[in-house]
Amino acid sequence: MSESYGSLPPAPGAPPAVGELTLEEKAALVSGSDFWHTTPVERLGIPAIMVSDGPHGLRTQLSEADHVGLTGSVPATCFPPAAGIASSWNTTLIETVGRALGTEARRWGVSVVLGPGVNIKRSPLCGRNFEYYSEDPFLAGRLGAALVRGVQSQGVGTSVKHFAANNQEDDRLRVSAEVDERTLREIYLPAFEHIVRTEQPWTVMCAYNKVNGTYASEHHWLLTTVLREEWGFTGLVVSDWGAVRDRVRALAAGLDLEMPPNLELSPASVVAAVRDGRLAESVLDGAVARVLTLVDRSTSAGYANGEPVTFDENEHHRVAQLAALESAVLLKNERGALPLRTESGATVAVVGELARTPRFQGGGSSEVNPTRVDVPVEELRDRLGPDAEVVFAAGYDLAGDAAGEERLRAEAVRVARTAARVVVFLGLPAAEESEGFDRTHLDLPAGQLALLAALREATDQPLIVVLSNGSAVRTSTWDGEADAILESWLSGQAAGGAVADLLTGRANPSGKLAETIPVRLEDNSSYLNFPGDSGVVRYGEGVFVGYRAHDRASQEVSYPFGHGLSYTTFDLGDLTVRTAGSVAGDDLAVEVSVTVTNTGPLTGAEVVQVYVRDTECSVARPVQELKGFAKVALEPGESRTATVTLDRRAFAYWSIRHHDWVVEAGDFEIAVGTSSRDLRAAATIRLDAPSLALPLAGDSTLAEWLADPQGSELLQGLDLPILLDPGLVRVVGTMPMSTLASFPGLGLDHATLADLVSRLDRAAG
Ligand code: BGC
Repeated sequence: MSESYGSLPPAPGAPPAVGELTLEEKAALVSGSDFWHTTPVERLGIPAIMVSDGPHGLRTQLSEADHVGLTGSVPATCFPPAAGIASSWNTTLIETVGRALGTEARRWGVSVVLGPGVNIKRSPLCGRNFEYYSEDPFLAGRLGAALVRGVQSQGVGTSVKHFAANNQEDDRLRVSAEVDERTLREIYLPAFEHIVRTEQPWTVMCAYNKVNGTYASEHHWLLTTVLREEWGFTGLVVSDWGAVRDRVRALAAGLDLEMPPNLELSPASVVAAVRDGRLAESVLDGAVARVLTLVDRSTSAGYANGEPVTFDENEHHRVAQLAALESAVLLKNERGALPLRTESGATVAVVGELARTPRFQGGGSSEVNPTRVDVPVEELRDRLGPDAEVVFAAGYDLAGDAAGEERLRAEAVRVARTAARVVVFLGLPAAEESEGFDRTHLDLPAGQLALLAALREATDQPLIVVLSNGSAVRTSTWDGEADAILESWLSGQAAGGAVADLLTGRANPSGKLAETIPVRLEDNSSYLNFPGDSGVVRYGEGVFVGYRAHDRASQEVSYPFGHGLSYTTFDLGDLTVRTAGSVAGDDLAVEVSVTVTNTGPLTGAEVVQVYVRDTECSVARPVQELKGFAKVALEPGESRTATVTLDRRAFAYWSIRHHDWVVEAGDFEIAVGTSSRDLRAAATIRLDAPSLALPLAGDSTLAEWLADPQGSELLQGLDLPILLDPGLVRVVGTMPMSTLASFPGLGLDHATLADLVSRLDRAAG
């Protein structure tokens, strides 16, 4: 279908200056006018603009829809949610999806798409993980940036959300995420930082929760110090829907636009606060200017010039299918189970209600009303053609009714016994994961597991499991029963056709896990502190999130971060590492190149992953961290060189002592592989870096003084008897010098110590 619609924003005019507005008009402008629109000022010709969810398809509600903002949206293409498309590790593909999304937004007059969500998967239990990309901030940032680039290339804004530390649904509107600064800087902020620095999203959406005791909507350090002053964000900060508690405090912290509006309280409280001097009018003016810039940007974006906007639904469905193809991860493939090759006339049993009633997106604010939905069993029947007979059995029901399921199971077993291949569709029903609540365990429903066990007992033929779920499910308890496992995630409206293409070998799987599949929930590092209680969740695991924790604890996992098989095979060789620039000059560029060869019989794509390890460091760091990747598509026998360049930040950690990103001089190992646990080649480089030693002071320890050449020389000059006894030096070496100066009989007093410190200060200039 290709249609055009007339509901476009009015033509742009020159934006009115903030000075032309009354105080009341300004107070009205920093709140919306309803669920999805900003406030118009007719007197000055300022139009309202419309925003819509996001992030993997539009959820545009026209005026006749409900008034709590959840149901009745216009038909739109449902692209794979983030958990699916993240497995593509393909930024070009995500940018293409972004462009299609941007076009659909223009078609409905939507100025800002409310996404992407780049929160980190701290726990596999988070009900909204399907809307987030990864447990790894580097990957989440690169993929989120691609979506922003694609959408914004169409003259439509994005809203990168939820800023910040919104990593659970339980108590999400109140809970305080207690996170130390290093962990924020290294894990929970970098995806936002990368997108802001490289793409300048039109808007950033603040989170509902508190961060270290302060609501994200009132968090001056997050919204102003870090976002604007450090990262240079010039766009608008919008609240998550209902995240504003105190409109005046939020404005002062840097929150520009409140959505939806609290019409009863907010505008009047802003006017009163300006009048009685609690809020500087210049702060309000700054927020108003940003709202006007956003309105101006959208109305000037080209689509408001009266030209009707159209898009081709078939073409967008095709984009959704390409995206779904790369979203699936082949976890396991034994006994040549896949691709499906059947003798002519063979029977293929397709079992599982999810093959007939697919689950392809998650519940809540991101729920799209799809333009159409591919049904896996029908698509499979179509791909296998007249030569194979596809027999379907539901096997379980999605409501998990135990009595009914026994009968369904028996029927499925009967069907499976006659089949040459059995394909079982398993996964999480909608009631088990959604925005709004978290899961409490990682298991598939009991009825589905009983079905799998019964099928395994019934047949020796290859048994293939296709999974649909938005966040990791435990495989360790049943892995041995399946010959092949294809994790298809929730992959949008075209997932059914994509899965059929992958199962039958018309397409070759190339997805890689963007999150670890742990052996047990208890192995996840947030386990002891999730989801918290009494209004607080402590991020006690610090920077050790996802594979960073599993690797550090040398834990076995079911399937590691970055894992994913193909129907062909790849070699990685000829690793070269060339270093230019320097840490001190902040122009370090470490070029990592590796040759990838398709050594198997089929066209396919491999993701080269580059991990960096600081071999020795004064702070606890992850064993390795992803710092680069490249997806390479190759014909059989073809070789190509993949090159990734690492900058200074790839080697740095956030130092709480220096309050900055620092690189410690020394050796770094650079490993390339096809998963975090399948590293094929490594090289070590030595980096010079400025000394990180802090100036010696009275509370520096004896050991620190002795380790410093100047400090040691000064101490030796004092002839302290204690220094003649190495055993004693070892015992008291951890004591601050000021403490030692207080002890009688050591030959060191406070006046001498003060003199030493001032001599060092003078020497340092
Ligand atoms: C969600 C946001 C969403 C907004 C508008 C909130 O509940 O957290 O992600 O964009 O609603 O629907």
